[in-house]
Amino acid sequence: MQSFQPPHRILMGPGPSDVSPRVLAALARPTIGHLDPAFQDLMEEIKAALQRLFNAPDHACVPLPAPGTAGMEAAMMNLLEPGDRCVVAVNGAFGGRMADMAGRAGATVVTVDHDWGQAVDVARCEAALAEAPTKVLAFVHAETSTGAKSDAASLCGIARKHGALSVVDCVTSLGGIVVDVAGWDADVVYSGTQKCLSAPPGLSPIALSKRAQAAISGRKEKVRNWLLDFNLLMSYWGGPDGSGGGGRTYHHTAPINALYGLHESLVAIFEEGQQAAIVRHARMHEALVAGIEAAGLSMLVAAKDRLPQLNTVIVPDGIDEAAVRAHALKAWDLEIGAGIGALKGRVWRIGLMGASATPWHVRLCLTALCEALAAQGLAVDAKAALAAADKQLGKAGPA
Ligand SMILES: *Cc1c(COP(=O)(O)O)cnc(C)c1O
Repeated sequence: MQSFQPPHRILMGPGPSDVSPRVLAALARPTIGHLDPAFQDLMEEIKAALQRLFNAPDHACVPLPAPGTAGMEAAMMNLLEPGDRCVVAVNGAFGGRMADMAGRAGATVVTVDHDWGQAVDVARCEAALAEAPTKVLAFVHAETSTGAKSDAASLCGIARKHGALSVVDCVTSLGGIVVDVAGWDADVVYSGTQKCLSAPPGLSPIALSKRAQAAISGRKEKVRNWLLDFNLLMSYWGGPDGSGGGGRTYHHTAPINALYGLHESLVAIFEEGQQAAIVRHARMHEALVAGIEAAGLSMLVAAKDRLPQLNTVIVPDGIDEAAVRAHALKAWDLEIGAGIGALKGRVWRIGLMGASATPWHVRLCLTALCEALAAQGLAVDAKAALAAADKQLGKAGPA
């Protein structure tokens, strides 16, 4: 065997996003023990930083030791018991995954189905909640499979009104658009490190409200998975003094170096400013869309529901969409995403997440896309696309 040397790539798909050199450097620092006093200080800093990032000062916030899907699984398995009713809004692949998990937890699952590309319909979800007592309302804030954003504040509001706990998937939203857990009065909210936080995949920050914690304590039977059982997890993550539930007793060996990486990415976000990062995502999105439209292409999602960090572009008739992605990868080392599920073959998914949301990325992507389309004989005006993007960015193009 020889050491693996990955090719240099630019990541503009649905995740992972580009990881900055400072986060990569943090990952390579020496491993220490998971009960080392210095590591325990790092744990407390990460918990406090996640409370700030989620705006969840009264929630328990910890990073789960597995990718974003672990947050989803923890939410469903901890809150739901056999026979509980769970309403799941399904407007893409990840809503569908939530419904699958709720069923595996033994819940009676009611889905509120949508066409892919639509935001979640609040009124239809409320009608489903009004039909019968419901334990959980689950939905995806930023549906990465379609590029649609949903109204988390209203959806959490109807959950409260009908006595249900809310579960909000913020894997792609956190760091890219406003996530306001306290303002929404949300119960369980989870994310992932490899989207707008620009750390490598492998961790899932999660926030649990006091109501959610009480529901877990009041369960009739044990949580059916062990690693993600919140009460067991908190025996390690809860706090050094036992106040948070256990005084750092061994539960699993924390992924030490991955947590260095998350910590560094949080330092970078707070250095830039959370609001500044959100404005940057919005600006890059506006520039990309201006370029896409100037090139004669169109977006799937209605303008008011678009996610800045995940742009679904419709594949024009007669174009081989996979060949376009292959060209971008081969000629430009640029990864863009394919459509999945109902949108397979119909869209490209262009991520502008975290460190991948810069003017340079926008211009590179437009250049590569126009070149790949021209190679298939489509008349696209690459100059006009770049000029439109530059105009949005408020900068003069090359002379
Ligand atoms: C990426 C993603 C997930 C899953 O995260 P993984 O890190 O791939 O496990 C869940 N929900 C949404 C909305 C996502 O975009």
